[in-house]
Amino acid sequence: MADIQIRNLHKTYPGSTELATNDVSLHVDQGEFMVLLGPSGCGKTTLLRMVAGLDLPDQGSIHIGGRDVTYLPPQSRNLSMVFQSYAVFPHRKVRTNIGFGLTMKKLAKAEVERKVAWAADLLQLTPYLDRYPAQLSGGQRQRVAVARAIVMDADVLLMDEPLSNLDALLRLDFRAELKRIVQQLGTTTVYVTHDQVEAMSLSDRVAVMRKGQIVQLGNPITVYEEPAERFVGGFIGSPPMNFLGAEVREGTLRIGSQAIAAPSFLAEAARADSGRAAMPVTVGIRAENISVADRGSEGTLDARVDVVEPLGHATLLTVDLEGQTLKVQVPSTVRLETGQMIGLRPDPQALRFFDTETQLGLT
Ligand code: ATP
Repeated sequence: MADIQIRNLHKTYPGSTELATNDVSLHVDQGEFMVLLGPSGCGKTTLLRMVAGLDLPDQGSIHIGGRDVTYLPPQSRNLSMVFQSYAVFPHRKVRTNIGFGLTMKKLAKAEVERKVAWAADLLQLTPYLDRYPAQLSGGQRQRVAVARAIVMDADVLLMDEPLSNLDALLRLDFRAELKRIVQQLGTTTVYVTHDQVEAMSLSDRVAVMRKGQIVQLGNPITVYEEPAERFVGGFIGSPPMNFLGAEVREGTLRIGSQAIAAPSFLAEAARADSGRAAMPVTVGIRAENISVADRGSEGTLDARVDVVEPLGHATLLTVDLEGQTLKVQVPSTVRLETGQMIGLRPDPQALRFFDTETQLGLT
């Protein structure tokens, strides 16, 4: 086991003027499960490939376990990798596939067999050891790729969208399995995904990336509840966080023609900004933090129900608040009709605020 210290990594691909990673620094603790999360093209894979040694940075350094590996080839970094195109050898049996790296390292046959048996047991592949990859399901093939990586006993495990080839149900199963295995091994892991649910469920910490930079780093619940900027709130969560244009005026939060109490820090900020009668602000609130209440009662906002979607465990509403659209999640016992006017009560503790110009969080 080892920690990973990434310092000020810059990378531009030949022929491109854009920075694929722009001054990225990140410390992954020993034994930590770090997820790199972000939309397509934000630089996650590039960052992982530099840690792996498959790409070299233009500037910056990477240390693994205190050793400078920035310019070392992959095989000298004591790491193992699982990539989305899980390259298992089609003409070799599962057992040979899992043991491949160990055989290459010239380990004794008995030792290879012992380790293969251990990994197969951990990944529930024991019954399939004598099959060929073509005789396995997609999930089982994926598990072979993971087994082949963990058997190497490396300091660091790198995974790039390892579940992306699986269908939704298999993904769910395998996600839990992967979590169990990595927890059991305690290997320092860096895992790339654009799937925010995967990131939330697997990570000790998540690094949210955008345009080659890490925009927020933290434990997944904090990132979900306290997005550092609007982009993060809009990227994490399904449905994403709702955003409403509003104004702070005379201690209240005005949304259209309606008003609820503004938190004191915001009211004070608006008062300090005395040049303006009203301070514009973007309000963020998650669907599950809004309840339906009697219209006109304290702290509620009038809105119209546009769409009702029963999800089984809850009902998702799309509502119109004077021209602004919001998603609201209510218990499935709440019966509402399209076109109905309702009162919405946002949980005051769950309201988040963003600067309308910079889109950065206000606290
Ligand atoms: P995805 O989720 O789609 O895999 P990503 O976040 O992993 O995306 P990267 O693959 O790291 O993103 O790409 C970051 C940027 O670098 C993108 O703008 C991409 O077009 C560019 N890029 C990636 N690989 C190369 C390459 N080999 N040559 C030129 N540009 C590249």
